[in-house]
Amino acid sequence: MSKILSMKELVPTIYEAVVEAPEIARKAKAGEFLVVMPDEKGERVPLTIADFDREKGTITIVFMTIGTSTYKLAAMKAGDSYYAFVGPLGHASEIKNYGTVVMVAGGVGTAPIYPIARELKKAGNKVISIQGARTKELLFWEDKLAGVSDEHIITTDDGTFGRKGLVTEPLKEICEREKVAVVYAIGPIPMMKFCTFTTKPFGVKTIVSLNSIMIDATGMCGGCRVNVGNETKFTCIDGPEFDGHQVDWNLLTSRQKIYLAEEKCSLEKYVEEAKK
Ligand SMILES: Cc1cc2nc3c(=O)[nH]c(=O)nc-3n(C[C@H](O)[C@H](O)[C@H](O)COP(=O)(O)OP(=O)(O)OC[C@H]3O[C@@H](n4cnc5c(N)ncnc54)[C@H](O)[C@@H]3O)c2cc1C
Repeated sequence: MSKILSMKELVPTIYEAVVEAPEIARKAKAGEFLVVMPDEKGERVPLTIADFDREKGTITIVFMTIGTSTYKLAAMKAGDSYYAFVGPLGHASEIKNYGTVVMVAGGVGTAPIYPIARELKKAGNKVISIQGARTKELLFWEDKLAGVSDEHIITTDDGTFGRKGLVTEPLKEICEREKVAVVYAIGPIPMMKFCTFTTKPFGVKTIVSLNSIMIDATGMCGGCRVNVGNETKFTCIDGPEFDGHQVDWNLLTSRQKIYLAEEKCSLEKYVEEAKK
């Protein structure tokens, strides 16, 4: 049981929880993830480590409400405990001095990209961050990301803050402007996919963190399988980070939708129960 020390709604639909987890915090590295169960009957929800504090023994998670399990997580309060909080899982990001790195964050992807950007900055890289959101109201952690970046660009789809448009536009301009060693792109699948299409003509290595549907997160069930470079990989034990130029995006997109009917039914039932 891991206790929630603080819980807040950062922006509509996106929540931040700081959790007491000294054992995990001691070992946590940027890029790794956790499995969180709200209660005994809950699903195993994979969530990336958004931050960690080894001295305080805390882990920060940031999640977007999308279905039953994330609604259950959002309904929990400071003082409550998760039934399970397991990690760190997956491979950590490879942190070294590459030169110039561009960190592209879309929506809730700002949270997982932040600790990677911080570690890359500490390793001596020039860090350029591009943070995108649909609208101003959905932007969060701008100061945190700017604080670990040499240059920080914000885009909103509707132009209510920063530059109007998609993250791929400044990404293309930066690749034209200077030599970029590595791009990290974390966010919704279409956003990551189009970032890889943008960088491909420039030959810039592009790392993505995949959020394929995951069940056990230990390499046993194969639920999170993805095709990378014509090989089957498991996001849980081979990832979650992969070379974005090698990912079969069509397969990932179609596999992400396989339980839509069940997820819809589950959410309707959850909302009905919550009303009682
Ligand atoms: C390694 C990894 C790290 C992740 N990190 C974060 C994070 O930091 N913040 C965040 O908001 N989300 C993260 N996700 C996605 C998050 O796990 C899903 O949004 C969540 O499991 C949805 O559960 P649900 O019951 O609320 O929604 P559901 O109704 O079950 O599903 C809604 C949609 O979410 C996707 N989804 C469902 N179950 C999973 C699952 N087990 N794994 C991945 N996607 C799923 C599907 O596209 C589905 O259609 C991560 C996923 C993975 C695999």
